[in-house]
Parts: sequence; structure tokens; C-alpha cells
Amino acid sequence: MEIYGNSETWQAGDNSQRPRRRLLKRSEAPQHRANNPYIVDGYLPPLSLRGCLRSLFYVHNETGNIITHAVPLLFVVLHGPTWPSLRGLNEPLLSWAVLVVMAMPWAASTLYHIFMSHRGGKWVYRLLLAIDVVGICTAVCLGAMPHVYVSTLGLGRAAAAVAVLIYCHACLYSLIRAVKATNAWDSRTCFALPVLMVTACWVLRISPWGEGQWEGGVFVPPMLAFFVLGGLAGATFVPERWAPGYVDLAGNSHQIMHLLVVAAQYCMFRGALTDLRWLLQRHSNPMH
Ligand SMILES: [Zn+2]
Repeated sequence: MEIYGNSETWQAGDNSQRPRRRLLKRSEAPQHRANNPYIVDGYLPPLSLRGCLRSLFYVHNETGNIITHAVPLLFVVLHGPTWPSLRGLNEPLLSWAVLVVMAMPWAASTLYHIFMSHRGGKWVYRLLLAIDVVGICTAVCLGAMPHVYVSTLGLGRAAAAVAVLIYCHACLYSLIRAVKATNAWDSRTCFALPVLMVTACWVLRISPWGEGQWEGGVFVPPMLAFFVLGGLAGATFVPERWAPGYVDLAGNSHQIMHLLVVAAQYCMFRGALTDLRWLLQRHSNPMH
């Protein structure tokens, strides 16, 4: 499949006067960017900063990855401040903190996918990947923290504080593993510990010792399902392993993973906002 764009290294077009440039095949692409063996074409060549920004205006195999996280980012930034559930917290500082945490992974991921082809090479790629992973880990850590705290509150405030502390350490461990990951399977399975802990807290939450409103807990199973499915899609290279080269531009596992983690984050924050409202009401009513 020949894909043409408008960038720094030009060549004459076959049928028109307009200059155009062939994107790279996997065998020609820098090795650190060719980490999916089933995406065979559409790789950007090494580009300058301006070239990376220009690549937003033509189609290549990162275009779908950029769109699937830039759209949620724009949605959070433009619509977030008007959401009734966020304004219902009546705590402007907390509401803004929630918005920042929601936007962070999509901003980091968009940055990573736009500039990963920078000619700075592997070190720029690793730096952007680290920023991307920090964004994901921060959202996973802070987003599920209200659920962990509320679920364990029935065992006492000290137990809940210890549970949150253990959860933060689990997220930090995942962050370190994700930064050091050398393949797709490692970079997805490194979140197993926080996922297991959120699951255990949910089991406690629905048990007789659980606390919190049921509405907050309702979002946990779909959140876990979307998150695990997203991780599996990214790690197994499905569907492109069944049709190498046919989903280079749209419908490949990385894009599916992007959409599933957006759905997971939506569930996580719907639950987190319910839990935060419940905690604030509880705090303002000492008889509770
Ligand atoms: Zn991505």
C-alpha cells in the first residue's frame, strides 16, 4: 500500500506536478518505532519539530492514534468545566484537579504520538514514552483512589489510609515496570497489581463490610473490563496479526486499545465523582 504525505523529504509525484513523499515500510522505519510486527506500512521518516506538526495534516499510521486520544482531550478541556457532576462537588479546586487528572493521559499520549517520529531518535522516543506512561499511571492512581478509600472505610479510617498507601505503591511499581518495558506484553501487563487491588476493593465494597453508595461501585466492573480488554488488545496485536497490512491506518489493536481505555476512564471518573460527593457529604455531616 502506497501512502503519500506532505513533509520534509520530497519526491516527484508519478501523475501530478505536486511533490509528494513516500512514507516508510516497517523494514525502513527506525527500529524503536517498529514495535508492532503486523503494521507493515505508513511509518513517518525522522522529522524536525515542524515536520512532526506538519504530519498532522496528512495521513500516516499514527494519525488514528492521535485522533483517538486528541478527541477525548478536546472533549475534557472544552466540555469538562460545564459537567453537572463535576460542578455538583461544590469544591472548585477539587473539580479542577479532577479535570487535570482526566486530561493528563490524553494530553501525554497525543504528545507522544505526534512527536515520536522526531529525528532526535530513540532518546526522544523514550522520553515521550515515559511522559505517556506517567500520564496513564497518574490517572489510574488518582482516578481509582476514591474507590479504594471508600471500599475500605468500613474497616476504619486507618485501614483505609493504609489501603490507599499500598495502592499508590502498586501504581508506582507499575510505572517503573511500564517505563522499563521492552515489549507490548510487558507494557500492558505491568498494570496487573493496581487492577487486582481495585478488584479486591470492589469485592469488599459489595460485602457486608463495604461502604459508599452503590452508584459509585456500579462503574467498577465495566471500568475493569474495558481496561483489561484494552491491555489485551494492545498486547496480542489483534486484529492486525490476522490481516497484516490491512489495518495499518485504521482499526488496529493500538487504536482499539485507545478507545477502550477512554471508556475505562469514563467509568472510573463517573465512579470517582460519586465517591467524592459521598465523602464530602459524610465529612459535612459528622452524625453520619
Ligand atoms: Zn498510544
